[in-house]
Amino acid sequence: MPVSPVHYRIRPANPAAHRFEVSCTVAAPDPGGQHFALPAWIPGSYLIREFARHVVAIRAEAAGKAVRLDKIDKHTWQAAPLKANQPLTVTCEVYAWDLSVRGAHLDQTHAFFNGTSVFLRVIGQESSPCLVDIRPPEGKMFKDWRIATALEPASGNKGGAKLHGFGLYRAANYEELIDHPVEMGTFTLATFDACGIPHEVAITGHHDCDMERLTADLKRVCEWQIRFFGEPAPMRRYVFLVTAVGEGYGGLEHRASTALLCSRNDLPHSGIKGLPESYRTFLGLCSHEYFHTWNVKRIKPAAFVPYDLDRENYTTQLWAFEGITSYYDDLALLRSGVIELKDWLELTAKTITNVHRSPGRLRQSLAESSFDAWSKFYRPDENSPNAVVSYYAKGALVAMALDLTLRQGSRNKVSLDDVMRVLWARFGQTGMGMGDDDIRHVAEELSGLNLKRFFAEAVHGTRDLPLKKLLEPFGIGLEWEKAKIPSLGVKTSAEGNEVKLATVYDDGPAQRAGLSAGDVLVAIDGLRVSPKGIDIHLARLHPGDPLVVHAFRRDELMEFAVRLAPAPADTAKLVAWQADNAMRKAWLGR
Ligand SMILES: [Zn+2]
Repeated sequence: MPVSPVHYRIRPANPAAHRFEVSCTVAAPDPGGQHFALPAWIPGSYLIREFARHVVAIRAEAAGKAVRLDKIDKHTWQAAPLKANQPLTVTCEVYAWDLSVRGAHLDQTHAFFNGTSVFLRVIGQESSPCLVDIRPPEGKMFKDWRIATALEPASGNKGGAKLHGFGLYRAANYEELIDHPVEMGTFTLATFDACGIPHEVAITGHHDCDMERLTADLKRVCEWQIRFFGEPAPMRRYVFLVTAVGEGYGGLEHRASTALLCSRNDLPHSGIKGLPESYRTFLGLCSHEYFHTWNVKRIKPAAFVPYDLDRENYTTQLWAFEGITSYYDDLALLRSGVIELKDWLELTAKTITNVHRSPGRLRQSLAESSFDAWSKFYRPDENSPNAVVSYYAKGALVAMALDLTLRQGSRNKVSLDDVMRVLWARFGQTGMGMGDDDIRHVAEELSGLNLKRFFAEAVHGTRDLPLKKLLEPFGIGLEWEKAKIPSLGVKTSAEGNEVKLATVYDDGPAQRAGLSAGDVLVAIDGLRVSPKGIDIHLARLHPGDPLVVHAFRRDELMEFAVRLAPAPADTAKLVAWQADNAMRKAWLGR
């Protein structure tokens, strides 16, 4: 007997009040009393967000009569058992005013939602197919609205949507349903083809993007990635959902789409010359989320198969999914010819600098950072730079170090590219979750090298990676440049005309003198400190100079005796010093 689908209906009921009305109808509810729940988190963003807190009202009915609904925990409801075997409908109003790639947002100009924010999970029927009727808001002002999503229109069904139209869409199960964010409104739409797969870019918000330039660049990157893992691509269609704002940056990966938030100035305008840094960063973000189509959406850690949407899903492997993806995002730009070698060296040097400037790299391993993402990396505070290592940035460096180790150890016969393709075949294409040592096992199997020590040090240890030594055979030199001013050992933030200590680095001059994050600097050597003036002041001083620093902590003025440290050599620079290096050519194509 075919399983009857769960029917959803969503409509922007009150755009001005930012409220969706969402209903869910179950043909054969649990006779003991059907449970419904909203996810506690959205896959790809490892923080408990408790989406159910945005449910403003909820009710249940069957055969036109109200059914009692009890809330049994922060995100679960239970309907009273029904006497007859009747369909049960639960309808809720959901407040949507989170303009991020992780939530839902609705006003008179557009609607955006992730399924995790709006679609109730029918407990016990997660594997049933889903049908979603997506309705437009009521009123003439919304008559031009259309839809961008990678959800499949339910053509063949009565009321089935046409591509970009309102009506019925379908998903094979709940996990798929919540993996296709939806944008509604009057976005700009452009399409392109990559290896025979239709791709769309939908941009919401005011912008002057040169869509031709953008799609031409994206096409190169997408085709490179599809060919990297091997045709055919795993999706039938792919959608870039872009929201352009004044200032913003973020992305979230999905199986056949990505939701991106960017500054409108990051997008290329017509007549743009070359590749400005801001546009390069945006292309890097697109490339990153696109690579996730394989690495994390399909090649997954065992802890995500399936996702447990009620609670934290612990894994020590986020470094592999975010770090390897971060390594390949820029590499794909370079190898597809969108950026030059000098761009790539600059981007990679920046990553090395970022990792090196964070003392947390000496305290926390990548495996620990991955495991604790939920409470540490995703919840940064003033002490994070001292205590936490980024599994993105250091993960990217470990990916590069592994790639170089494999290439050198196998005389260029085996690389991380080969490892990724085997992971794709063994885990991505089979849906099997990856165990903690699987990357190492595959890398060892392909190269014949013993990589136990490499992984122990790079993933489970905290020592700095020997990047200089690893890069040398590839004709790339790593040098450290010295900062221009002696060090106070702090990161400051400007608040109006005040200088606040954002972070006080471990064992630095400020910490030794007793200064703390949150302190507001008032004066150095009796002279008032300002955000503009502080570096100018420090630049005239020398390492070892004693300073008297006045600062407010709470409302108390305190005095600190600080001794300046030498300017740190903590800015990495990468130079390709051999014009012609066969190893580098095989690696970077240059
Ligand atoms: Zn990512």
